[in-house]
Amino acid sequence: MERYRVNEIFYSLQGEGVRAGTPNLFLRFSRCNLECRVETHGFDCDTEFESGRWLTLPEIIAELRALSASCRWVILTGGEPALQVDAELIETLHAAGYELAIETNGSIELPAMGEGIDWITVSPKVAEHAIRQRRAHEVKYVRGYGQGIPKTVVEAEHYLVSPAFEGAGLDSRTLEWCIRLCKENPPWRLSVQQHKLWDVR
Ligand code: SF4
Repeated sequence: MERYRVNEIFYSLQGEGVRAGTPNLFLRFSRCNLECRVETHGFDCDTEFESGRWLTLPEIIAELRALSASCRWVILTGGEPALQVDAELIETLHAAGYELAIETNGSIELPAMGEGIDWITVSPKVAEHAIRQRRAHEVKYVRGYGQGIPKTVVEAEHYLVSPAFEGAGLDSRTLEWCIRLCKENPPWRLSVQQHKLWDVR
């Protein structure tokens, strides 16, 4: 039976993007194919994705159900979830009654172009020519102070600018910069990592 390397499973509110504020089960996979640094990406990765447990799909579903009997949304995140998410996982979680969202850096094409995944968030961390998942419900770029508006190759329903945090803090200059980017470049809109302000994980 297929096993997936899972960093953690938890229940919380989605903190960013168009679905912000909604309750979701988070299935966070281990491993990432990138190494984001302030020198190359404008921010340092603050996600621990090395550790994890090998879990089967029945074990994953049992943990999801134990966390909430009523929440129907599962967010596949990481690390980079596209390293592990496959058709079997999508079909099995759907059959268990879940709707699926994914947060991916876009450098790996999702199975069947992401068909079957109910909400795709692409948050590119590579050059535009290296983006492989080019269709999404929302595309979100982290911007540091002074970084310009992206010329994205991703076709999406929603275009989001996310001001880079420094640890748990949001520098007011960076926030003002991103507000200005949105005002000067509709339909780009602001998406703040509100879970950091709410102090929820
Ligand atoms: S793609 Fe995401 S998880 Fe991977 S190194 Fe960059 S910020 Fe961290």
